[in-house]
Amino acid sequence: MTTQIPPASLDPEDWPAFREQSHRMLDDMLNYVQNIRQRPVWQPIPDPVRARFQEPLPHQAGSLKDAHETFMQQVLPYAVGNVHPGFMGWVHGGGTPVGMVAEMLSAGLNANLGGRNQMPVEVERQVVRWMRELFEFPETASGVFVTGTSMANLMAVLVARTAAIGKSVRHDGLGEHGAQLVAYTSAAAHGCVAQAMDLSGLGTAALRRIPVDASQRIDIGQLKAAIAADRGAGLQPFFIAGTAGSVDTGAIDDLTALADLAAREALWFHVDGAFGALGMLAPDVAPLLAGIERADSIALDFHKWGQVPYDAGFLLVRDATRHMDAFAAPVAYLRREARGLAAGSPWPCDFGPDLSRSFRALKTWFTFKVHGADKMGAAISQTCALARYLAGRVEADPALELLAPVALNIVCFRYRAAAADVDDLNRELVADLHESGIAVPSTTMIDGHLAIRAAIVNHRTCSDDIDRLLDAVVSFGTRRCNGSSTSLEPPCPT
Ligand SMILES: *Cc1c(COP(=O)(O)O)cnc(C)c1O
Repeated sequence: MTTQIPPASLDPEDWPAFREQSHRMLDDMLNYVQNIRQRPVWQPIPDPVRARFQEPLPHQAGSLKDAHETFMQQVLPYAVGNVHPGFMGWVHGGGTPVGMVAEMLSAGLNANLGGRNQMPVEVERQVVRWMRELFEFPETASGVFVTGTSMANLMAVLVARTAAIGKSVRHDGLGEHGAQLVAYTSAAAHGCVAQAMDLSGLGTAALRRIPVDASQRIDIGQLKAAIAADRGAGLQPFFIAGTAGSVDTGAIDDLTALADLAAREALWFHVDGAFGALGMLAPDVAPLLAGIERADSIALDFHKWGQVPYDAGFLLVRDATRHMDAFAAPVAYLRREARGLAAGSPWPCDFGPDLSRSFRALKTWFTFKVHGADKMGAAISQTCALARYLAGRVEADPALELLAPVALNIVCFRYRAAAADVDDLNRELVADLHESGIAVPSTTMIDGHLAIRAAIVNHRTCSDDIDRLLDAVVSFGTRRCNGSSTSLEPPCPT
């Protein structure tokens, strides 16, 4: 007598009811995006809402409907708000409904993109080919999706390190040789470049942070001098990370000059193009990126200017062999075959540290296929036009002051006040803005001064949103200066 073992299935018992509830969930998210303007950009999380998420592990089954209701009431209203057109903080993409439904398809397929002989890997390779085309990279270039540019920059350092001192480093470790390696980037580079040096074992002390010029671009003369000094000291320069769109101001290094210098000095030329590299899609931005096509590697994020939902980082490497040299490893359970599901080598897992990987390529593929590269480029151009509009309004208003030139889509400015309190005042103003739900800029330091930083990335943002931001800055600033809503009693505008 045989015993039947039924599946321990987690599939719905009542498919029609599940289908109906699923459709409701889809509709709720479409409503969220469609009506996003009716919401505050952000709102503080009430304590009881936080407390809801400190319950013990639920052992018993609950309903999908109840879980969804909790999500709608306790989670959705208290997100960062980057879907909202008033969100201008840090550098966050706005996402799209197309990307959202593509994510649903990808979750349903539940593909593991580590490798194997499957069409999802071909979709990723399609995006790799598109990026080769966009950046005029050769057929021999490789690319791989990762979480974000922080990871892509780390991987670029590892590829460059292996290229500089040979594959033996992977077995022997850095040793004496590693202690000689020196890398270069600008003082305006993103913090993850230093972190990449840290995590790779090379150490942040081996990263020279070269000063920037008045436009926040790396000073090429000082870079040359630093390389010469390091060579003179018996060190081994190996890596330059140029920035295409600095996180503070959107500055783009002179990539042609960096490419020339890297070629002359035989250094790996990497570009951190986290948000700026996709400016190649915009006819008015692309010329500013001249020289990027000569990079050895480019890190970029589709989830910023590309509007693909989080996360969708990407690393493009000119020479696939060098790329694989840093990551590919022969292990028996990942053996490649000439036929069957284990065919189709190399696999994405040969190009990075991840083995199990999500199908990030699908939402990116959908975004390009449905919107087209030109429309995506037009959205990028539009954010730059809005930044110029914002800067123009700041310059025309005596209560406001521009703190950095506007290179792309980022505007750093402040509310004017007497010198002693101006940083504190502007810090408070930004928190006022956040709590008002009207607009969400962030802050940064420019030449030692606190700046209100508006990074316009969202394709939904329009000039009305810029007006609302500035009107609120001036109104909160005036109110704070009159001492009516604060105990700080900051001085009046100069
Ligand atoms: C956002 C950003 C990063 C980090 O990218 P993540 O996707 O957040 O990891 C690195 N460099 C620059 C210039 C950025 O704007």
